[in-house]
Amino acid sequence: MGTLVTIMICEPDKDDNAIRTAIDSAFKRISEIDEAMSTYNIESEVSRVNSMAGIKKVYVSDDTYAVVEKACEIAGKTDGAFDITVGPLVELWKKAAGEAGIGEYPPEKDSIAAALELVGVLDREKFEFDKEDDGKKYIHLKKKGMRIDLGGIAKGYAVDEAIKVLLKQGIENALVEAGGDIRAIGKQGFSKDWPVDVRHYAGFDRYFERLFIKDQSVATSSDYERGYVIGGVQYSHIIDPRTGEALPRLLSATVVAPDCLTADALATAVCVLGSEGWEKIKERFPRCARLLVCYDTDLKRALIPNE
Ligand code: AMP
Ligand code: MG
Repeated sequence: MGTLVTIMICEPDKDDNAIRTAIDSAFKRISEIDEAMSTYNIESEVSRVNSMAGIKKVYVSDDTYAVVEKACEIAGKTDGAFDITVGPLVELWKKAAGEAGIGEYPPEKDSIAAALELVGVLDREKFEFDKEDDGKKYIHLKKKGMRIDLGGIAKGYAVDEAIKVLLKQGIENALVEAGGDIRAIGKQGFSKDWPVDVRHYAGFDRYFERLFIKDQSVATSSDYERGYVIGGVQYSHIIDPRTGEALPRLLSATVVAPDCLTADALATAVCVLGSEGWEKIKERFPRCARLLVCYDTDLKRALIPNE
């Protein structure tokens, strides 16, 4: 997943070995998910789905299918701001930025238009997924060049699954974090809930907000660590699937949700939608809240519409 995963357990009365076993099992589950969904690994299920674009359907595991199914639901509810078929656009912008992330020219308008033709998770002419009578599940990218990218949602799913494993192993107080996507159960020692700081863009030692979460998830999408500079302009790694443009940089969205998959996908979507867009759709996501932080380019001013 190209990130660090941290598992914290607060069970002072439990045996060390039991805790170690629980942690090992949770990491094993995360690796399974990574192996299925990584686009860095050319043998992953998702890579196979992509390599068969325009050719044929590919049978996938319950994990990949579950994430894709959820991703489609969220695409619908965010009016297409979250779209896992953004792959061709992600590649286009990555190419323009080059290996070092610093490029000279943004993608040509024509190339963006051509890539946009290959995007549309809600368009059944382009994207299909279903269960067959015998229970086998498949994904079919119908046009050559299409690519799914689960980078905006798979980490959240992995965190949810890791928490499930921990619960099964009798752990009741824990926090799992994968690259800014967090889910916590129970409590942290004498502290009632788990404290989570939303970090300030300007440095590790500063934060905007301290949240306290319990049996909840919180995910942050931002370009703190990722993003490009092309032609002197800063761009985020998040793409607006409606225009094909990479978002302007210095943006960060934090979403609280009951489960981490939803928090992860929504944090990415809120970056695309902005405050106004989120206001229009937020009723569709009960028990979710967002904190959107926007920065001006010289980091001097921060606007924090909170709720
Ligand atoms: P996150 O860090 O969770 O916001 O995920 C960002 C990653 O999701 C990017 O690196 C892309 O791989 C992918 N992505 C970019 N834009 C979108 C989008 N609009 N919808 C879904 N996934 C996206
Ligand atoms: Mg995300």
